[in-house]
Amino acid sequence: MKKLISLIAPMYNEEEMAPIFYETIVKIMNQLKDRYNTELILVNDGSKDRTWEILKNLYEKDNRIHAISFSRNFGQEAAVAAGLALSKGDACILMDADLQDPPELILEMLKKYEEGYEVVNAKRVDRKKDTFLKRYTAKKYYDVIHTLSGKIRVPKNVNNFRLISRKVVDQINALPERNRVFRVLVPFVGYKTTEIEFVRRKRPKGETKYNFSNMFKLAGDSITSSSLKPLTWPLKCGIFLSSVSFLGLITFIVFYILECLKVEPFLYLPNAFFLLIFLLLFCFGILFIFTGIIAQYVGKAYIEAQDRPLYIIDEELKNK
Ligand code: UDP
Ligand code: MG
Repeated sequence: MKKLISLIAPMYNEEEMAPIFYETIVKIMNQLKDRYNTELILVNDGSKDRTWEILKNLYEKDNRIHAISFSRNFGQEAAVAAGLALSKGDACILMDADLQDPPELILEMLKKYEEGYEVVNAKRVDRKKDTFLKRYTAKKYYDVIHTLSGKIRVPKNVNNFRLISRKVVDQINALPERNRVFRVLVPFVGYKTTEIEFVRRKRPKGETKYNFSNMFKLAGDSITSSSLKPLTWPLKCGIFLSSVSFLGLITFIVFYILECLKVEPFLYLPNAFFLLIFLLLFCFGILFIFTGIIAQYVGKAYIEAQDRPLYIIDEELKNK
């Protein structure tokens, strides 16, 4: 019997891209027809434009489409989680709906899957077309996550575009956490993994949904989801600062006694006063940074404790 492949794409305000995406992806689905059955899972993440209407029309003419619509915008990670939860495929392929991830790569991914790999990552090479700022922030993001993630080893320059086998999908679906960053969860569950390389294209239509604050949030979620290392920094820094200040105190006392013996001990005090203020400000700054880091983890723990659903499905279109 032919294996089923689930193709999953989240969509938020993609009215311009949805028809082009479908036309492109359907060509690949037709190419696969002899060897695989395919299902196309399209998740409308609370779009405010005509995306859902377009998906409804596409569903009418293609029974391989399984479309859902959220009650509001829950974010790309929630849309990916919903797509995976609904998928029935022996393998799932996640991709963005803006065709920045070249669909032809699906054939290459399936070849690797047939060779026995459970995870096939698509790794971005060549970011020359990105702006300097995007290249710099992306590099820093991946460097930090890669280093902090320790044994999980989040791969660099790999986003959501990848194939994962049913085994991996089931493991990811079973993870209980709400703070879901797909690019951290895949390496967390492990399994036999390989990489293929690709050059990411420009978005043909529409705009990126990620502004600076979304990207900042993603970076925070990725760090808290993959590592507890930042929580060890206050302790290390505290030990260092208290050792330095202890030595400073001893030195100060010794100098003070010596100055006292020679009279005019207070000549040096104005300078020492300013030094002390800056030192205090510096220490307070560090203290607030660490309080902020701890607050991030406490906030995440609170969200887990709330145990709210990751997303709410308003409508579902599915062939039985
Ligand atoms: N997306 C989503 N919900 C959101 C933001 C984005 O489902 O809240 C989808 C979006 O429609 C696209 C994919 O996630 O299919 C990637 O978004 P985008 O292209 O804006 O990200 P970028 O390529 O700029 O990183
Ligand atoms: Mg994009």
